[in-house]
Amino acid sequence: MTTLYERLAARLGPNGYAQDAADLAPYLKEWRGTFVGETPFLAMPASTEEATDVVRFCAEAGAAITPQGGNTGLVGGQIPKGEVLVSMKRMNRIRSLDAANDSLLAEAGVILANAQQAAADADRLFPLSLASEGSATIGGLISTNAGGVHVLRYGMMRDLVLGLEVVLADGRVLAGLKALRKDNTGYDLKQLFIGAEGTLGLITAASLKLFPRPRAHLVALASVANAAHALDLLHRLKAATGAVAAFEIMNRLSVDLVVKNVARRRDPMPGAPMLALIEFEATSEIGLRDCVENAFASALEARVCENVLIAENASQARDFWRIREDISAGHRGEGAQVNHDVSVPVSQTPAFLDRADAAMERVCPGARIVAFGHMGDGNFHYSVIAPEGMSSDGFPSEALTQMVYEVVTQLGGSISAEHGIGVARKDDLVRFKDATSLALMRALKRTLDPNNVMNPRALI
Ligand SMILES: Cc1cc2nc3c(=O)[nH]c(=O)nc-3n(C[C@H](O)[C@H](O)[C@H](O)COP(=O)(O)OP(=O)(O)OC[C@H]3O[C@@H](n4cnc5c(N)ncnc54)[C@H](O)[C@@H]3O)c2cc1C
Repeated sequence: MTTLYERLAARLGPNGYAQDAADLAPYLKEWRGTFVGETPFLAMPASTEEATDVVRFCAEAGAAITPQGGNTGLVGGQIPKGEVLVSMKRMNRIRSLDAANDSLLAEAGVILANAQQAAADADRLFPLSLASEGSATIGGLISTNAGGVHVLRYGMMRDLVLGLEVVLADGRVLAGLKALRKDNTGYDLKQLFIGAEGTLGLITAASLKLFPRPRAHLVALASVANAAHALDLLHRLKAATGAVAAFEIMNRLSVDLVVKNVARRRDPMPGAPMLALIEFEATSEIGLRDCVENAFASALEARVCENVLIAENASQARDFWRIREDISAGHRGEGAQVNHDVSVPVSQTPAFLDRADAAMERVCPGARIVAFGHMGDGNFHYSVIAPEGMSSDGFPSEALTQMVYEVVTQLGGSISAEHGIGVARKDDLVRFKDATSLALMRALKRTLDPNNVMNPRALI
């Protein structure tokens, strides 16, 4: 009898699968080495038809699947533990671009930077932007409902998807690639698969929203006394300019550790208690700089911020962004730590930092806090690092995490703002998500994947 792997190999051809350890290795470990896995078979379909057969053959054999895109996910959902691994990297075509409809049709394996470039070539913008954009794929970004630095202006990935093509767990295809802004014909089925982390189906292609390409950009750094002032500054700048595209926050320690641990980085505002990194964009150069300068002048006069630097050119703007992008690298080597990706209502961001910082000090006196990220969306990356000299054995990482999540929950927030649940946060999801939502999620999973073959270890 033909085995599943022989059947898959025959269907996919020599370029479409791998079983040798050396070929599999790069797919079985994510970049930090936090998650390491194993698989008996790597399938690399090159078309929707091949992907459909992969899922169908696996379903017929009762074999589970782990989908993988660019392998940049931070919660381990893309790393198999014995499942058939389905890499979407070969489905990397931009199928079409309709500039008059402001839409782009991309296969799941298209790398985000290539989708951005295709949009730019047509004088349009695909606004999703994050540090992993040179590797992360459209399918992975949709499956994790990725965020990044422009959510404030354009929304999460969920807001950028017009339609999806998905292979369901039983091998049927949901052909939902309509590129419509309006379609009120019942349940919005595509939304089920966005943020589902591959647990409900294999995304093979997506129709995405495009926007007019901004002609003018300005990047500024502002020193603020605390998060309450940062919040005030955010709203002043939004109201005065209408052009805020990103509003990122970096606490003192986050910048100090970049300067200490990353080569050739210098502190642009020594002594600033907290830095806000703000990007402005507009469709015309005319008036943007004046408008931004006036807004900052008024904020300085009101003592909402203490100092402001507006980048004079693209290279200085890059230098400002590099500090923000290097924060993870800056503190990674600083000893035992726990990292969180949490959100609260934007209005509650100062309360979050006050309460969480105090709680960390109670649980682990001397703990060092790196707080940074997308404050304009209410999203902090909040890392707690052991006091200098404390060994990892003595570091109460689990107690600290539970305390962060309790503070978030009290403020009406979420334990995962943009990275997802994967395998890393499954227990926390059960603890912090309300019972009705969990029951509905499980019911959907049972309905769409009754045999639990789609990424069975992730999310739910
Ligand atoms: C340096 C760095 C910076 C980052 N910054 C951000 C940030 O600012 N904001 C943010 O939101 N994320 C960020 N991330 C996280 C990461 O880039 C995202 O999770 C990304 O969306 C994953 O895309 P991927 O193609 O690499 O997917 P993978 O990592 O390969 O997979 C992620 C999940 O999606 C599933 N999946 C992948 N492809 C498919 C498919 N075609 N169909 C069904 N399921 C699929 C996988 O099974 C897995 O559960 C960052 C990561 C890195 C390394």
